[in-house]
Amino acid sequence: MATVKVEKMEVLPVKREHYSLIIGGKRVESVSGETYTTYNPATGEAVATVAQASIEDAERAVQAARQAFDNGKWKRSPAGKRARVLNKIASIMRGRFNELVELEVLDSGKTISAAQGQVMQAIEDFEFYAGAIVGHRGNVNSMPGQFFNYTQKEPVGVCAQIIPWNYPLMMAAWKIAPALAAGCSVVLKPASLTPLTAIVLTEICHEAGVPEGVVNVLPGSGSKIGNYLVEHPKVDKVAFTGSTPIGKDIMAKASQTLKRVTLELGGKSPSLIFEDADIEAAVNGSLFGIFYNTGQSCEARSRIYIHESIYERFIEKFVEKTKQLKLGNTLDAGTHVGAIISKDQLETIDSYVQSAIEDGATILAGGKPADVEGYEKGYWYEPTIIADVNHSMKAVKEEIFGPVAVVMKFKDEKEVIGLANDSEYGLASAIWTKDHARATRVANEIKSGIVMINTPFSAFPGTPFGGYKQSGFGRELSIETLDLYSETKSVLSYFGAKPLNPFGL
Ligand code: NAD
Ligand code: MN
Repeated sequence: MATVKVEKMEVLPVKREHYSLIIGGKRVESVSGETYTTYNPATGEAVATVAQASIEDAERAVQAARQAFDNGKWKRSPAGKRARVLNKIASIMRGRFNELVELEVLDSGKTISAAQGQVMQAIEDFEFYAGAIVGHRGNVNSMPGQFFNYTQKEPVGVCAQIIPWNYPLMMAAWKIAPALAAGCSVVLKPASLTPLTAIVLTEICHEAGVPEGVVNVLPGSGSKIGNYLVEHPKVDKVAFTGSTPIGKDIMAKASQTLKRVTLELGGKSPSLIFEDADIEAAVNGSLFGIFYNTGQSCEARSRIYIHESIYERFIEKFVEKTKQLKLGNTLDAGTHVGAIISKDQLETIDSYVQSAIEDGATILAGGKPADVEGYEKGYWYEPTIIADVNHSMKAVKEEIFGPVAVVMKFKDEKEVIGLANDSEYGLASAIWTKDHARATRVANEIKSGIVMINTPFSAFPGTPFGGYKQSGFGRELSIETLDLYSETKSVLSYFGAKPLNPFGL
């Protein structure tokens, strides 16, 4: 039988002038011939051109992913082999660490220190799932008499993965790594504002030995391409990270074909700062909790509740340090806060701050778009703290997704638990106290998928990440994620000597 020799994708520099779609193991241009330009939000400068996926491209990608899944090459390869390929992806990424970081900074406007942490975590995700998949298995269940039952985990199939612009590479890794580990095929749709590192990651997957068609990437419009994937009958699962309204829309549409759905959505996460907290640590943690990644984080701790007895001391330090935060050169390790992703987002943030002012709130720091010398063409917002607020205000209830914190006083534990839970969201929360008993008691009462005690860090490979309530469902970054990319098949058999004849005929 003649074998068709598959050409390997040429390895191109991470940073370059043009990025293509990847469908069926090949770099291709859009069927429509359309391209668009991505810009650096910090400077307004063009970064690269990108092929803009059309519906025909989405169809090609689903077919390629379907074929690659059904031919079984990847899903039937031993877990140990998939683990080896995942480790190879991680090792290629390690070799190009600085280039990936730079590209992420340019495409997203985030700071280099933020990008370094995120690229490192993306690498470690692949390493984590390389280890985790080897232990992912079914079990044997007790059955009466001469029956036998075992379960096995099978990959769920073709997965459409739709991701936002705030963590372009890290979100791609959170999605692709567990899907590949489980043996699924992927059609990834990065956010149109930040597609570059997700494209490079897809290329690296091929370089590392992922078979053609198993990972496809389609930069393009959410409402067109994203929607097409969600409605496609040959897609088995949708994994989405983004805003709550789009998540609801996706869930409704996916129900038509009963796709498996996991949703990582918005948040309005609280920090609870008790009277016995280490104030310095709580200030530093809260600063990072809201201003890291320019507040463009679903788990940003944007509501800060402070015990009345330490309120003044906390606020004084918090305001002082907020005013010291450096904006500007995103490639400088000393810059703390990066740009806002787009003009639209900048206007949204400002309209929330203005609404708070109209509602009678007081601005303690920031409060307007920032003038950053040398970066006049970028989108910048001053790190902002708003006081004298209450739970009826829009800026307190809704997700702002920018560098804006609201601060409030509380009297006792019961009151602050009530305030913390008074939100339609439930992604994360932070507790600052030296009293261990209180920390765990409060952690038990809080309705959020993640609780941080005396730490600003919310996610490491291995720790489940995901929400309660309208922050979504499903967990990423953890062992249980593998179950969300698998079906459980239950196999029953009978080994008795006497043949079964239940009707007795
Ligand atoms: P978004 O919901 O507008 O877009 C997210 C992705 O969905 C993009 O790729 C977009 O193109 C696509 N999309 C848009 N409309 C679509 C449609 N109708 N059908 C299918 N796909 C569609 O959100 P965004 O502005 O890019 O990201 C910010 C939001 O994401 C915030 O609300 C934030 O809280 C949330 N977020 C959540 C998490 C989490 O883990 N919970 C992480 C990051 C971001
Ligand atoms: Mn960009």
